Amino acid sequence: MSAVRYDAIVVGTGPAGAVAAEALGRAGRRVLLLERERLPRPKTCGGGVTAKVGLALGVDLAPVAERTIASVELHWKLERMRTMPDGPPLVYMTQRSRFDAWLTERALATGSVELKDGVQVKSVQTDAGGVIVRSASDAWQADYLIGADGAAGFVARALGLMQERHLLPAIEQDIAVDTATLESWQTRMALDIGSLHGSYGWVFPKGDHLNVGVGCFSTRAHSARQLKDYGRRHFDHHFAHLRPEARRIVRSVGFVLPLRPPGAPIQRERALLAGDAAGLVEAFTGEGIYWAVRSGQIAAQAIVAHQQRGAVGTLDYERTIDAELMPALIDARRWAHIYLWWPRACWELPTRSPRFWSVVAKIVRGERDYTDVRRRLGWFGRAADWLPAEMD
Ligand SMILES: Cc1cc2nc3c(=O)[nH]c(=O)nc-3n(C[C@H](O)[C@H](O)[C@H](O)COP(=O)(O)OP(=O)(O)OC[C@H]3O[C@@H](n4cnc5c(N)ncnc54)[C@H](O)[C@@H]3O)c2cc1C
Repeated sequence: MSAVRYDAIVVGTGPAGAVAAEALGRAGRRVLLLERERLPRPKTCGGGVTAKVGLALGVDLAPVAERTIASVELHWKLERMRTMPDGPPLVYMTQRSRFDAWLTERALATGSVELKDGVQVKSVQTDAGGVIVRSASDAWQADYLIGADGAAGFVARALGLMQERHLLPAIEQDIAVDTATLESWQTRMALDIGSLHGSYGWVFPKGDHLNVGVGCFSTRAHSARQLKDYGRRHFDHHFAHLRPEARRIVRSVGFVLPLRPPGAPIQRERALLAGDAAGLVEAFTGEGIYWAVRSGQIAAQAIVAHQQRGAVGTLDYERTIDAELMPALIDARRWAHIYLWWPRACWELPTRSPRFWSVVAKIVRGERDYTDVRRRLGWFGRAADWLPAEMD
């Protein structure tokens, strides 16, 4: 066992863990940041970082972005397409190896965070006084633990939390295209809706390739094979006209997006779950980075506040997540149900009404959130209470 006792151990250097470590480091807390992979490491993800992430972090995302997206093509069933009106940047396209390494550097720059990468956490013990975390060869102790180890993470399982979550599948590919094609995607991204029930497709441009994928938020609607088949049709729609050497698939991978059932516990004693480990993902868009960042910040604040109270009373994490993040995440699930039942409306409304699109863009930029928009819709918004708060 290491002789050092840390204020907090954070498991995982994704956005949730890196941001939590940075916030704790800034508050002068001694933090051990453990990461299974050697950094920088890839992560299955479209790498679309919405402008609201920059707002939450209080930083300009341009230095870590490979493309800045102001223009969105909305496709309907891979048949029709309309381009949305341009505006201020909506999404910064990055690669997760780069983005997460940048966030981790920011944590290390506080001078209070120690990183051990290439270390897989294999055991977690927690009680009212603190935590003990073990890898295959070492052990460390701390006052608090943040499990930010992602959708397939170990910490939630070890704590017996998040066993009932929904897992939404997504498949993505990195496509090396010819220079002319790459340049044509400089500042635009494409989304497809309506092609497969409860599913969506995307084309996200990066500095030297395109990231292309499909995901779905209703696993009951169809089989994995149908999703793969949609992935193939989506790829062909965008790239079949190119010569084979001008559209090479360099990476193809699938993973899941986890959804927290409302009220499911995400803390036990001195251990907290953040980001994907807590199922904090927006069902309607598949956006997880923003929620990972926000939950990492809230976890750090809860720990600092608890320490300042002399570690007396409740560690106020889960309640803050329920109050500050869950209402918008649940409203996003209600929007996802509207898409499940009336997919065409989700294409017609933004493409025909500039006012509607402007509200969508404001949500993406963080100037509004789903809950705020629902409130403004009066009785129509209140009627959305009847829509399910969970996906199936
Ligand atoms: C196909 C796909 C596309 C997506 N596209 C987008 C997108 O464009 N925009 C967006 O906002 N979201 C997207 N998401 C969601 C997003 O990737 C996640 O929500 C986000 O990565 C969650 O961050 P996190 O910090 O919680 O976990 P992660 O980013 O998963 O980080 C977890 C970290 O913990 C480490 N770890 C795991 N187990 C251990 C262990 N036992 N010991 C030590 N370390 C461990 C992992 O190596 C990893 O570094 C996508 C998801 C998928 C599957």
